[in-house]
Amino acid sequence: MHIETDVKLDFKDVLIRPKRSTLTSRSEVDITREIKFRWSSEVFNSVPVIAANMDTTGTFEMARALDAHGMMTALHKHYGADEYLNFFSSLERKSAAFYSLGIGQREWDQFESVMQRANGSIRYVCIDVANGYTEAFVRFIEKMRAAYPDIVIMAGNVVTGDMTEELVLAGADIVKVGIGPGSVCTTRKMTGVGYPQLSAIIECADAAHGLRGRICADGGCTRPGDVAKAFGAGADFVMLGGMFAGHNECGGEVIERDGIKMRAFYGMSSKAAMDKYSGGVARYRAAEGKIVYLPDRGPVDQTCLDILGGVRSACTYVGAKRLKELTMRTTFIRVTQQLNEVFGKS
Ligand code: 5GP
Repeated sequence: MHIETDVKLDFKDVLIRPKRSTLTSRSEVDITREIKFRWSSEVFNSVPVIAANMDTTGTFEMARALDAHGMMTALHKHYGADEYLNFFSSLERKSAAFYSLGIGQREWDQFESVMQRANGSIRYVCIDVANGYTEAFVRFIEKMRAAYPDIVIMAGNVVTGDMTEELVLAGADIVKVGIGPGSVCTTRKMTGVGYPQLSAIIECADAAHGLRGRICADGGCTRPGDVAKAFGAGADFVMLGGMFAGHNECGGEVIERDGIKMRAFYGMSSKAAMDKYSGGVARYRAAEGKIVYLPDRGPVDQTCLDILGGVRSACTYVGAKRLKELTMRTTFIRVTQQLNEVFGKS
């Protein structure tokens, strides 16, 4: 057994310190980024915010709405082959959506059959597993990279520099970072496993960038300021579930409670999701997600403007004319103390 006593931080533990700036208005800030990849020759040139590939937020409707703001959507993996084909062939901006899959044989077979008929319309793929630390996952990324040398592969999730490097070397262009921070995730409670998200972003970004890899901070953002902190910490992309949940464009049951319209939002490892897609929770495992009902938030458009406006304003406060400069200009101020600092190390 080993205990690491270094301080590890979450979004709530820091604020971004303002800096002298020559900017006079938020409108001067460019929050698009040009991003090149280690493996794919694709060049991303848009707003690097992604709706999570949960079946509530990773919908075609969400992808169309976010596309209007230059953002992306990782589609959930429960659409049929023809539905994906119709959708991707209708997309003008190829970076607007990721095709998502896990590492099962059936998912690989469907992916291959879709790719054969997609005429190059699918350029971004997200290989998503809860635990990115397994040999089988690394082998799957290698197989995907060998079969499709030029697509953009995002893969995760992990939270440490060593595994980030391994996934980049295996063929990932973007490593997805986050275990346990999700708003409807119960992994930390059920397993005791996790890593404070801000520190995970800082450490994984450092590891990835050394290899010309990229990272996507996934989970734990509850407000636009958290998105700014994730970019400030070094994230190239930020993925959001809860912040995009509860809107008209979302999937999930709609109910009425005390006269208020509510939308279901649940983790993809929750009982609700497993009942829907896997015939219930298998006897050897426990659910690691929960269901919540959110008051209906209407169209996602205003939420998009709030998120982008918040990030733009953060850039103004630190004098970053472009989102790319935000990390370089970020100094975090710690605003909380950890228990060992309050009570002394023993
Ligand atoms: P949020 O933005 O809501 O805080 O986090 C979204 C992320 O939570 C997703 O992109 C995914 O990585 C993670 N997530 C979604 N469903 C589950 C679940 O059931 N269990 C766990 N452990 N994580 C989940």
